[in-house]
Amino acid sequence: MAEYNEDALSSMEICTKLEVPDVKFVEAAEAAIKENPGNAPMRAGGGAGTPGGSPLEMAIFAEKKWLPGRTLSVSFLDGHADVKAKVIDFAKEWEQHANIKLDLVADGTADADIRISFLQTGSWSYLGTDALVIEPGRPTMNYGWLAVDSADDEYSRVVLHEFGHALAAIHEQQSPVADIPWDRDAVFRYYALQGWDREMTERNVLRRRDPRLFNHTEYDPTSIMQYAVPNGLTLGDFAIGWNRVLSEKDKEFMGITYPEAAPPIGTLSFGATVDADIGAPGEEDRYEFNLSEPTAVRLETGGPTDVVMSLFGPDDPTFLLASDDDSGLALNAKISRTLAPGDYFVRIRHYSKHRGGSYTLTLR
Ligand SMILES: [Zn+2]
Repeated sequence: MAEYNEDALSSMEICTKLEVPDVKFVEAAEAAIKENPGNAPMRAGGGAGTPGGSPLEMAIFAEKKWLPGRTLSVSFLDGHADVKAKVIDFAKEWEQHANIKLDLVADGTADADIRISFLQTGSWSYLGTDALVIEPGRPTMNYGWLAVDSADDEYSRVVLHEFGHALAAIHEQQSPVADIPWDRDAVFRYYALQGWDREMTERNVLRRRDPRLFNHTEYDPTSIMQYAVPNGLTLGDFAIGWNRVLSEKDKEFMGITYPEAAPPIGTLSFGATVDADIGAPGEEDRYEFNLSEPTAVRLETGGPTDVVMSLFGPDDPTFLLASDDDSGLALNAKISRTLAPGDYFVRIRHYSKHRGGSYTLTLR
């Protein structure tokens, strides 16, 4: 029987990451892909080689990243001057690790990218580009308990965490590879004390994300995106304290999500082999080719690196036609298909967002 201390509840100020309402689910994914074509799913739900499919399926597998290099406007909708100054100060630490700028604009700017309030319940933020489909003038982020006299390390913990969500980071405990030995019954009882039903607790604490979507290789219990885990909520002896600063993996993750410069786009010609490499972890290489008549094409990768290849088009760099990981020789990818005339787009990533290596790409 797990025990927990009810006094801990007063300090259990944790975040409820908001998700867009179901009616805006597909709209949010479309907005995400318009913002950053890299949000288009590299793989559809059916696994390697499955075509793009329905808008709903596209939406489930779309990512929420802003375009790297973007300046995001930030506006306060309300709040005390001293509190606002501290929030933006702590938030800007992310700029050092991501190719993103946060630009404070006039209070009450209804169409700012990130709109901050202090008047709602709890602390939360929409995830990445989901903010694009929130009604203008409504907050996309809220701080329910930060006050003039809050400690600096509390500002650090909450602001870095919420801006992490705003830059598309999910809760670390929901990483597909998180291995927290939860005592589920104790977790439900604990969060019920702050008014959460089982579904809310499942969604915000227990449920892990689909590994096809979030390619984590390692779970990072020191992440700013990890909730504190009291020992009483776990089986055996396992606890995590409040993380108040960015971990090394947090910094690396943002660097991968918002890299310094997009790699150039190469042009493929028939019969030619391109030698290339995924130089930095998370890099995505892009290629184009054009067909003037219907053609049976074969795209094949070679070399020692386990890459994933996706083909988009015709004439739409976000419409997924096919995706492949390992159907070529060894760990290589292969796509064979008869294509209509038009422009086609190929994207190559390492299977793991944390690794790189050399590969070849041939169009036949
Ligand atoms: Zn959160």
